[in-house]
Amino acid sequence: MLEVKDLRVNYKTQHGRPVTAVRGVSFTVPDHSFVGLVGESGCGKSTLGFAISRLLNVKRNEVSGYVQLNGKELLTMSDRELRKLRWSKIAIVLQGGMNAFNPVLKIKQQFMDVMRAHGKFRVQDMVERIGYLLEQVKLDREVMEAYPHELSGGMKQRVAIALSLVLEPELIILDEPTTALDVVVQRAIVDMLQDLQRRMKFSVLFISHDLGLVLEVAQRVMVMYAGDIIEDESADVLLKGGNHPYTKALLNCYGDPQSEEVRLVGIPGAPPDLSQPVVGCAFAPRCADAFAPCTLHQPPRVKTETGSICCHLYTEMKGGSKIGN
Ligand code: SF4
Repeated sequence: MLEVKDLRVNYKTQHGRPVTAVRGVSFTVPDHSFVGLVGESGCGKSTLGFAISRLLNVKRNEVSGYVQLNGKELLTMSDRELRKLRWSKIAIVLQGGMNAFNPVLKIKQQFMDVMRAHGKFRVQDMVERIGYLLEQVKLDREVMEAYPHELSGGMKQRVAIALSLVLEPELIILDEPTTALDVVVQRAIVDMLQDLQRRMKFSVLFISHDLGLVLEVAQRVMVMYAGDIIEDESADVLLKGGNHPYTKALLNCYGDPQSEEVRLVGIPGAPPDLSQPVVGCAFAPRCADAFAPCTLHQPPRVKTETGSICCHLYTEMKGGSKIGN
């Protein structure tokens, strides 16, 4: 359904050297699937979400490649056509978006504004739809009469998710939707999201820095590092440890709460400066398994049994057919 090919984003900077935040990324999000996108801060995952939704300022950034939603190319589509697709085909819940409600309008009004901007609806039908959606995110219908400041953070995030569903989109991009919430509320919201996705059959691209959380809800997880997707695997494979040294290192950052002794292992070093060209594997300076080709050649993307990976070590040990150029 969503097909992204060779997507590249350069942020123009004042010092002249652009920062390549997304470096030629390709992937698909099939119909009715729950796909996770994880990586540490600054790896380009939010930029990728913005680029797909065409929310980046084209005057300040260069975006190239292809983003197709059900065969329609989004990057070159006119603003008018794009407006028709927004909310009804593709919706996005932004990080901190729950704090962007208009403080002087009731929740009901904010839903109605979106509905009126995209179609003709009778007031009675809109009220019924808002009530239905609030119930779907486990809130009382009366919440529609509240102002945003009368709701807790968890309630506002549920309202933001209900709002994203108002025109029944086929794909929802959720960018760190639970980061600002405590772990109990976070858990309740991801459980609710998973349940909604199964029942309403939309697709989800769930962006988060929290691999543990994503592995619990997503069917497939893409791991992003330094602007590229370095492993794209089924959640089951990643739960067993994954294949890429970076994914393994990320998983080592989590302790087993049932073990008597928990040793947390961090990842030494820092991601590369993306205003400079990346030579070889971007993870090489931090990788305990790096060997000669890693610093010289960019690892090609190869197929695994259930996904794909970019790692010389994997190719050397297990082979795998190359994907793309
Ligand atoms: Fe490590 Fe080399 Fe694989 Fe990069 S390509 S992750 S440096 S083994």
